[in-house]
Amino acid sequence: MARRNIVKMGDPVLRKKSKEVTEFDGRLGCLLDDMKDTLHFAEGLGLAAPQVGVLKRVCIVEYDGVLYELVNPVLTHAEGKCTDDEGCLSVPGFRGLVERPQIIDVTYFDREGNRHVQHAEGYFARVFLHEMDHLDGILFPDKMIKKLPE
Ligand code: ZN
Repeated sequence: MARRNIVKMGDPVLRKKSKEVTEFDGRLGCLLDDMKDTLHFAEGLGLAAPQVGVLKRVCIVEYDGVLYELVNPVLTHAEGKCTDDEGCLSVPGFRGLVERPQIIDVTYFDREGNRHVQHAEGYFARVFLHEMDHLDGILFPDKMIKKLPE
């Protein structure tokens, strides 16, 4: 396991669309382990593979002490709206208010290729959606309705 550098806004890799994972192999496990180390060191809530320069549909979320490893996540249900503040390890210096769905369901695969369905609400849902946006090259300032100091 090793810590990787977090790419910052302005690097074109953050604007590309990531590719689906097709091989659930040791390299995927290594990427996820490294992302976990990187997230813990940076003390964030989530990290997406493009943030460490890897254009694969992989992200991790740590919420309420539980680590979720999402491979090929897909949003299958969204309802309601809520506005709350967000920050991003790739966008240092400020936070922003972003409107997102209140309740979601996400389908994803784990590192072994097993399929899972996760229901999430409120800020938990927000972290999932923020990380999944990274896989399509979207950063929170794109959706920000108000800029806030960090
Ligand atoms: Zn982010």
